[in-house]
Amino acid sequence: MSEHSPLDVPEGDPFGPHNLPYGVFSTPAAADPRVGVRYGDSVLDTAAVAAALGSPHAALLAAPTLAPLMAAGRPVWQAVRAEVTAWLTDPAHRAAVEPHLHAVDRVTLHLPFEVGDYVDFYSSEHHAANVGRIFRPAEEPLTPNWKHLPIGYHGRSGTIVPAGTPVVRPAGQRMRPAGDSVPGQPGPAFGPSIRLDIEAEVGFVVGVPSRMGTPVPRTAFRDHVFGVCLVNDWSARDVQPWEQRPLGPHQAKSFATSIGNWITPLDALEAARVAPPERTHPLLPYLDDTGTDARHDGYDLRLEVRINGETVSRPPFASMYWTAAQQLAHMTVNGASVRTGDLYASGTVSGPEPDQVGSLLELTKGEGPWLADGDVVEIDGWAPGPHGVRIALGTVTGQVKPAGWTGQ
Ligand code: CA
Repeated sequence: MSEHSPLDVPEGDPFGPHNLPYGVFSTPAAADPRVGVRYGDSVLDTAAVAAALGSPHAALLAAPTLAPLMAAGRPVWQAVRAEVTAWLTDPAHRAAVEPHLHAVDRVTLHLPFEVGDYVDFYSSEHHAANVGRIFRPAEEPLTPNWKHLPIGYHGRSGTIVPAGTPVVRPAGQRMRPAGDSVPGQPGPAFGPSIRLDIEAEVGFVVGVPSRMGTPVPRTAFRDHVFGVCLVNDWSARDVQPWEQRPLGPHQAKSFATSIGNWITPLDALEAARVAPPERTHPLLPYLDDTGTDARHDGYDLRLEVRINGETVSRPPFASMYWTAAQQLAHMTVNGASVRTGDLYASGTVSGPEPDQVGSLLELTKGEGPWLADGDVVEIDGWAPGPHGVRIALGTVTGQVKPAGWTGQ
């Protein structure tokens, strides 16, 4: 037997005992997807350990998606987290647990839950103002509603893909550039997008559903939301300005959205809770978070965007104007319900500095260069954890494939 055990995770490892994100995996020897927990460079087969040790949560962890665990609610989330922590750190469990750790690069990671409804918000003031200046230069950068409600739109959940899935360059309609009009063809051009872009975002995964007609108050956020993942909202910037007035983005976004393979529980992010930015406009009561109870509704998540291995931006999530708790309250205030597996994303995370923006649109002031075929995009992130450790958020990776790519 090797002397080194995968349970001996180095102190300060960002996937150490304070993180413990959930995913769904399979191995060549056992092809049934089941719930895994990332620990160091390993994946713990929680279903196998739960069965071996007679855990009351064995059935939840043997499921092929995270949905049953997500739906079970916060007391169960906390009990399972405590149990997994004990399995990984208590020497008494070592012999039972060690055989059920798999090297993370030897497992197949699956979409961790079936995504229900998908909403994408627009909650970075810096991003909204930057985009306003680029797309609507003659107008105020922020629309009059922006400081009164978290703006969002419903996206396509069926094309949400796990990290590592190739993304095919979409085709669509776009305005012809000035001077490129074709005699007899005054309409738009059609073809593969020539302005393919990314948006670095943070996604919130709904665990506990709500009832139609019953709004979820801002203060119930942590009773409903199971965890967090990073998101890349791929965007066709030539399709978007032509189609999005007056109803919002559609084909420019719906072709693919990538999410991280690891869902970080909110309980792993307790040390990262921070105050959101000062409110400059009075808010309606369901959104008002100026009271003392809301001083920690923000999250200090530090994102990093890499293209072909080169870091191009470090967006700070703590600068987001609208919090995830406000977004959930707003989504449900009209009586709409949320379901287990619903995903809502923050909107592009952009900070105040030029090297903190979450899209090429902003990095290049709308001029490009844009993504080329073959480009590999990685969105990474971490949060401060207890005792100065870092809590890694699962990386979202994706490579751009040429339009019409058939997988060959
Ligand atoms: Ca977006």
